[in-house]
Amino acid sequence: MKNTSYTTLPNLFYQETKPQDVKATTLLWNESLAQTLEIPREYDFFHTKTSSIAQAYMGHQFGHLTMLGDGRAVLLGEVAGYDLQIKGSGRTKYSRGGDGQASLGPMLREYVISEAMHALQIPTTRSLALLDTHQIVQRATEERGAAIIRVASSHLRVGTFQYARYYGTLDDLRQLADYAIERHFPELQQQPQKYIAFFRAVMLKQATLVAQWMSVGFVHGVMNTDNMTISGETIDYGPCAFMDTYYGGTVFSSIDSAGRYRYENQPKIAGWNLARFVEALYPLFHSNEAQALEIAQQEINRYGEYYEEVWLQLMREKIGLPKAERSFIETLLTIMEKEQRDFTETFRALTLQDHTICTTTAMTAWYDNWIMQLTTESQTMMRKVNPAMIPRNHLVEQAIINWTLANDTTAFHNLQQLLQNPYAYTKEQCEYVIPSSEKSRSYTTYC
Ligand code: AMP
Ligand code: MG
Ligand code: MG
Repeated sequence: MKNTSYTTLPNLFYQETKPQDVKATTLLWNESLAQTLEIPREYDFFHTKTSSIAQAYMGHQFGHLTMLGDGRAVLLGEVAGYDLQIKGSGRTKYSRGGDGQASLGPMLREYVISEAMHALQIPTTRSLALLDTHQIVQRATEERGAAIIRVASSHLRVGTFQYARYYGTLDDLRQLADYAIERHFPELQQQPQKYIAFFRAVMLKQATLVAQWMSVGFVHGVMNTDNMTISGETIDYGPCAFMDTYYGGTVFSSIDSAGRYRYENQPKIAGWNLARFVEALYPLFHSNEAQALEIAQQEINRYGEYYEEVWLQLMREKIGLPKAERSFIETLLTIMEKEQRDFTETFRALTLQDHTICTTTAMTAWYDNWIMQLTTESQTMMRKVNPAMIPRNHLVEQAIINWTLANDTTAFHNLQQLLQNPYAYTKEQCEYVIPSSEKSRSYTTYC
């Protein structure tokens, strides 16, 4: 592992920090990812030879701008262009009141859901390893301490740019932007208007990411600007969950009582976050302030269109009709919501052309109309975007409870295994997909 290239940035962007001195043991090991990165299983992530750092960043948390930074994580270094970060590594300069620790349950969640997201072919940070820190962590009760090794294209966030803008000079901001461009969009380096092109590229990546979340019923739960990456990867699996019953107002997070980050609000929030991003970045657009602002305004105004285009394309694929009218898709969604249908199950049944979903007049009418329009390519198209299996809340919860309370890891490993091929449509997966009989809407997740 090499030292992180992030330390080529000015000192204000980070603080050199070592992980806490613990002898950790490995609980989960992602063999295929480890092979790609050529990291041996015995690697001691708590005592690396690299000069590790905690990154500084700000973030709008539920709409309020705050100074944050890695409070319980350090960036260990880089392998093959990827950041290796250890989360749950102890206190840092940016810990504020926190203990710098992570507990086993939430780290198991991050591990299984991030890897499931990757298998769904949606951009995300990965999980290389889950480590037992042998610490006792004080939460509502005493919990086992754990750490996750997170792999990401980078840990640059919208909040990193906000930090540069509020605490740094124009030159600091430019250095950060150049670094981000070099790492994520090297093809833009030669462009005359490279900072504008950079903004546009991030906007397109984020629009695509959120449309993909929407297409599988994923609710991130904490779309604060510090949890939005420049690379366009999903990051920070806290109170996230996949929706069972289709309902736009779905909220799982215990701390989101106002529903700011509810399912249907995610595209709008991504746009709001990108507006905060362009506010931080726009001084680089033009030497004349007024003109720079005008460009920023024009650029952000395109977000809605970008998003709609990507979303519509994905939804067309989900029903196997690449030219379907938007209104035809909306009719289906309206029926699904009204009839409280399971999101994943409905699209899985359509993929299998399973007529048994026609239990109501409305659904039958839509289905009969739809099936007439299918082509020979439809099913192949649908199989690529309609997973047979998602990390169902009751399954994830059961797997975590069995592990944390009874030290029984079987359910976790089974689930993890099945989620590796969500588009395979195996018989075993089909038995797993039946949603919990309990009302999934009342499911609550915690940070
Ligand atoms: P999150 O909501 O997970 O994005 O975290 C927001 C901020 O709180 C980040 O700066 C984290 O590093 C910090 N944080 C979260 N949990 C802890 C903890 N247990 N100790 C210290 N800092 C924390
Ligand atoms: Mg975070
Ligand atoms: Mg978090």
